[in-house]
Amino acid sequence: SQPISDILAQLGIKDTNPAYSTGLQWGGESHRDTRTVSSPTNAKEIAKVNMATAEDYERVITTAQQAFLEWRKWPSPKRGEVVRQIGQKLREYKEPLGKLVSYEMGKILQEGLGEVQEMIDICDFAVGLSRQLHGYTMHSERPTHRMYEQYHPLGIVGVISAFNFPVAVWSWNAMLAAICGDVVVWKPSEKTPLTAVACQHIIKDVLQENNVPEGVFSMIVGDASIGSQMAHDGRVPLVSATGSTRMGKKVGEAVGARLGKSLLELGGNNAIILTENADLEMAIRAVVFGAVGTAGQRCTSTRRLIIHENIYNEVKERLLKIYPNLPIGDPLKDGILVGPLIDKDAVSAFLKALDDVQKEGGKLLTGGTVLEGEEYATGTYVTPAIVEAKNEYHTVQEETFAPILYLIKYSGTVEDAIEIQNGVRQGLSSSIFSTNLLETEAFLSHWGSDCGIANVNIGTSGAEIGGAFGGEKDTGGGRESGSDAWRFYMRRQTNTINFGRELPLAQGIKFDL
Ligand code: NAD
Repeated sequence: SQPISDILAQLGIKDTNPAYSTGLQWGGESHRDTRTVSSPTNAKEIAKVNMATAEDYERVITTAQQAFLEWRKWPSPKRGEVVRQIGQKLREYKEPLGKLVSYEMGKILQEGLGEVQEMIDICDFAVGLSRQLHGYTMHSERPTHRMYEQYHPLGIVGVISAFNFPVAVWSWNAMLAAICGDVVVWKPSEKTPLTAVACQHIIKDVLQENNVPEGVFSMIVGDASIGSQMAHDGRVPLVSATGSTRMGKKVGEAVGARLGKSLLELGGNNAIILTENADLEMAIRAVVFGAVGTAGQRCTSTRRLIIHENIYNEVKERLLKIYPNLPIGDPLKDGILVGPLIDKDAVSAFLKALDDVQKEGGKLLTGGTVLEGEEYATGTYVTPAIVEAKNEYHTVQEETFAPILYLIKYSGTVEDAIEIQNGVRQGLSSSIFSTNLLETEAFLSHWGSDCGIANVNIGTSGAEIGGAFGGEKDTGGGRESGSDAWRFYMRRQTNTINFGRELPLAQGIKFDL
């Protein structure tokens, strides 16, 4: 297979990379903090990247402001044509970009490629949408009057993304924002900046060939301080932030204080309910992938399994046969299902959660170790854990971003299971396995799952771009990607037009001039 050095060269990654790009122009080449990015797969240095300064941030924002003045005047289908070409470029670069995602973040290659495919899909979706940015028309109560509403661009959309979906989250936001006439400033996770640098290189020819104003697609490498600057900045009308609930609360507060808009995609604590009527062949596959896939580092990873007491032992035994044989290792190798955690801090959080939950009375059934030996020398490979626990345990109530699956027993009806499922502060993804219509419909009903995503007979993890993605409660309430999520990237305007020769006033008001 292609050596990493070739992939980096193909994607424009240098030994040391500049701190920002406003499209064709790059800046922040020297005199600053430099961050070394190493692969969680083998601890080898991939490249260095310069961290942006406050002045860099200023330059990026002012360039984006200028770009917006022109970009908003482009007809939306013309903006869609640019997005279509970006989708074509992503098709060309799917293989190297997917490999870099895998190498920099640690997810298995097929998931890296899958992430790039999501970028391609959202481009296709946005192209169609560029001819569909519609509002309602309403009948006026006044004669010879017409009312309708339209959607106009907002301005700068700040995108703050998390390490675990280092490129897809940008595309979900940026492609919709772009066709809506907004300009985007992207602050990727400081843990995975190189895939972001690569994206800017991939799109640059499209920007040049179409004379897209400099500043429509910008990217700035920095840590929380740059994200925080964005959250406080009144020139950024919408901040779309993906990451932990802790981060989202800070961003939401700062944006709210200046009455801006925030779109928050935060942590989950996702559960699968297995009723007595579950098809266990299907369910076990979904549970295993949901819990150990991406080494438990998806916002939609399965963290809690709520099992009816009559099938509890059978489910537990089946899982305990599978877990010890999970293929764990280099995510770029064929046949591997579980790669490393992102860094040693994540390993410590994993071990601490297991320690804490046992102190609360939880029983560790399998896994929970850090793998050693040549292949695992980074110290970031762990064995996925299964713990028997209670929903009310403090540790179970928290999202630990690692492969820990809590088994929770329920007795009674599906409503009892739903109560447990809803009994956490997060509300992202949920699912039920049952072939009984009464149970599945109860789960989907308005007294059922309180999550943004509720699935029947498929797991919690992953989503199609056609649907609106996001969750309730501590997950932040934002929706992005499909359905009508685009509306959040625009401002709504109601227009009333008088095509008569009289001016009837509202509320029957009459006066002589
Ligand atoms: P994180 O919160 O540590 O960081 C996410 C991003 O926020 C980074 O770019 C970081 O620099 C920035 N940031 C951190 N503090 C900030 C602040 N005070 N102001 C502004 N920006 C700040 O999260 P992470 O470890 O990269 O990602 C894992 C978390 O993301 C998990 O909780 C996961 O569930 C969540 N996540 C949610 C979704 C979703 O769609 N709901 C998707 C992916 C990840």
